[in-house]
Parts: sequence; structure tokens; C-alpha cells
Amino acid sequence: MLERENFREYAHKVADKMADYLENVEEYDVLSKVKPRQIFDELPLSAPKEGESMDVILKDFDDIILKGMTHWQHPQFFGYFPANSSPASVLGEMLTATLGAQCMIWQTSPAAAELEEKTMIWLGEWCGLPKDWHGVIQDTASAGTLCSILTAREKATNFQSNTKGLAFFDEKFRTYCSDQTHSSIDKAVRIAGIGSDNLIKIKTDSSFSIDINAFEEQVKKDIQEGCTPLWAVANLGTTSSTAFDNVTEMAKICKKYGIWLHIDAAYAGTVAILPEKRYLFEGIEEGDSYVFNPHKWMFVNFDCSVYYVKDKGALIRTFEILPEYLKTGFESKVNNYRDWGVALGRRFRALKLWFVMRNFGLDGIQEKLRLHLSLTDYFTQKIITHSDFELITNPEVGLVCFRYFDANKSDEELEKINTQILKSLNETGKVFLSHTKLNDKYVLRLSIGQTYVEKKHIDGFWELLLSVSSEQLSIEKTL
Ligand SMILES: *Cc1c(COP(=O)(O)O)cnc(C)c1O
Repeated sequence: MLERENFREYAHKVADKMADYLENVEEYDVLSKVKPRQIFDELPLSAPKEGESMDVILKDFDDIILKGMTHWQHPQFFGYFPANSSPASVLGEMLTATLGAQCMIWQTSPAAAELEEKTMIWLGEWCGLPKDWHGVIQDTASAGTLCSILTAREKATNFQSNTKGLAFFDEKFRTYCSDQTHSSIDKAVRIAGIGSDNLIKIKTDSSFSIDINAFEEQVKKDIQEGCTPLWAVANLGTTSSTAFDNVTEMAKICKKYGIWLHIDAAYAGTVAILPEKRYLFEGIEEGDSYVFNPHKWMFVNFDCSVYYVKDKGALIRTFEILPEYLKTGFESKVNNYRDWGVALGRRFRALKLWFVMRNFGLDGIQEKLRLHLSLTDYFTQKIITHSDFELITNPEVGLVCFRYFDANKSDEELEKINTQILKSLNETGKVFLSHTKLNDKYVLRLSIGQTYVEKKHIDGFWELLLSVSSEQLSIEKTL
């Protein structure tokens, strides 16, 4: 067993391994080529009885684990949205693991609580968030969204559903979001006991933003039928196509009918750091809660999601439980973040966020984001000017939705060809991108925001796309 005395030696070895990995990450296939169950079957039936040396364990990491990894820090990882890391973030994470602190209350690590409070203020300033909002770090946007609906539910029942149970209330709550909303909203509605039948998906317009009139009509209809509108979600950057809902208009309706407005900016929230993109966030000050993930585009390694709320008191009243053994007497002066979310135990996540914010600085982050946006424009121009491709949505925040296109082919035929193109691209191991469906059209999604992506990676992708699609077309022709 590795003792503290030998830690230094192995810490150095692992640090070298980490640096080698980051330096050579482009040599790996972006998407792992292992077969289902392959890794499972390579691992022993049972865990070892006797301890093994770190050398053996690290060798198995190289031989068994690495080949089964998808390399999210590869600059040609264009799938989903990025889950960016950065050297400063990893150093913060190493120290968090070394300290091994469980930061549930102020006393269990005052620096963790106060650094979290400070970084939430700093980040709010960078993003232009309202000064009267209060932020807390959660593991994921899913967790922040769950906090939001639970708080809305408590507030609407005079803080009694936690004690009496939702069944006590003779009310049928209704919740709202667009048909483009992320699945974490469905999950939150289920867990909060509202029932997914009471989550009404409002249709969207041609740019995939919520149809405001349809939203208000639905709320009116529900009230007429005796339901209580409770909670609505505005999307700033949907997962499929980075569509933006009109928060200002949604907020007006929410105010009028007493609905809690939650804003999901999980991916796009980072771009609020750029003043020239702030217009996309118009009206957010009218929201009741807001979530975004520094662990997506802001170079803080997973996990680090931030949840901001206007009514801090309501949040704490929803989650506060104060057993005798956790009473400290400092409750009124400091933040005990175990009362700001679902879990009692908490990792010291603020440390890596602080490292990133200080090491990049506002200028450094802005520079990266602007590079990503200019690469997005660069690629978009290629798609627009090439007759074989069609741009599906306006790429505003680093995501290009496009497809191979031929006016003589049906959507069904196009879907078949685009599916094949995607498969062939990903099978090269050089790049990874994912797909979605928009208005029943099968489209490819190129998410340009990886920490290390440069122009040469976009050029490389474009060439690969051209060769893979022309190959696919010649196969089609011979069929
Ligand atoms: C990624 C994403 C989520 C979910 O984020 P998690 O942190 O994985 O829970 C929610 N909403 C949107 C719009 C997203 O893009």
C-alpha cells in the first residue's frame, strides 16, 4: 500500500503522465473503439485480496482504461457540448483531492465556504448577473434545476409541502417549458412530485424559441380548468440548437400569473462573459433562478455548475435541516451551503473555479471565447458557400447545425446519407461530433468550444467532411 512517505514519488510520476497526456491527446482516437463489455471482461472477476503496487495499477490504467476513454480534451472533440478542462483547473482539482475536505458547513472548512461566496460574486460580475442574486456551486445543472422547482413548490404551498406532503394540497400544479427543453427539466418535475403529465411543452417558432402566445394561452386555459401554474423554464441556448427563448416576454407572463421563472443557460451562460453577446441575456433580471455550467465552456473541469437565485431565503427554507450535531452558532454570519441544495456533503469545487478565474483572468477567458466564435463563423461560411451543405440554424454561440443537402432528395434519403456521413466521420477516430433532429430533419451538430481547438482543427475537419461525404455519395450512386 502506498504510504505518505512514497506519495511524492508517485505524485511526480502521475504529474508526468498527466502532462504527457495533455501534450499528446491528439494522438488518441477521439471516440473509443472498444466493443460493449470489452473493458468489463478485461477486469478481474473480484477485487484483489492483497494490495497491489501502484506500478501495476498505473500500468493497467494505461493498458486497460485509456483505450476505453472518449477524449473530451481532444481539440477535435466537437460532440454534444464541450466539458472543458484546463491546466489551472486540474491543479485546483488535485489540491481539492489532496485536502479531501467535506465542505458541508462553514465550520468544516471556512475557506471553502467563503471562497465559494466570493467566486459566486466575481462570476456574477463577469456575466452581468443581477447584483441581488445569490450563487451556489452545484454538481450539475440538473441539480440546480431541481433546487429551483423544489423551492418554487415550497413557496407556492407556504412552505408546507415539505412537512405535509404534496398530496395534502388540493391543487394540480402545472409547469411549462418549450418543446426544445433539456431532459433535466422533465426529471426535476418528476422528482418534485409534480408529475410529468403536468409539464406542458409549448411549441416553438421557426428559430426554436418558445411561442410566447401559445405559452400564455396554455396558462390561461390551465387556470380556467382549475390548475395552478407553478414554474416555467426559459432556455438560453437549448441543447439541440442553442435556441434562445424570449426571457423578457416569458417573465411578463410569469409575473402576471405568479409563476416562478427558472432560466436554463447551462451551456450558453458562459458567453455572457462577452459584452458583445450580452444582448442574448436580455431580461434575465426578471427571472427567479438561473443555472449555468462553468464545466461546459468555461474551462473548469467537470463538475462545477452554478445556481443563482433571487430569493435566497426561500431556497434555504426549502433545504434547511439543522440537527443538533450540526449546530455551530455561526449560522447567522456565514453560509452553510448544505442548506443550499440537495446533498449534505460537498466537494471543495470553488478552488478550481478560483484557479481558472485568476489564471485566465477576464481577458484570457474572453480571448478564448472570441476565438471559438470566430472559428464558428469561419466554419459556417464554408457550409453556406458550399452547395452540398445546408445550414439549419443561425450559429450564435459556437454550435453549427448543418447537414449534407441535395434538393432532389427527400428528408428521408438525406437522413440516411447524413447518418452514414456522421458514422464514417466518427469512425476515423480523428474527430467526434453528434447529431440531433430539428423539425424532423436529421442534422449534424458541430460544437466549437474545446479548450485547445484552433483553426487547423477546423480546417482538418472540413477536409475530412468533404472526403467522407464525397465517398458516401459515390457509394450511394453505385447502389
Ligand atoms: C448540458 C445541459 C443541461 C444538463 O447539464 P448537467 O450539468 O449535465 O445536468 C441542462 N440544460 C441544458 C440546456 C444543457 O445544455
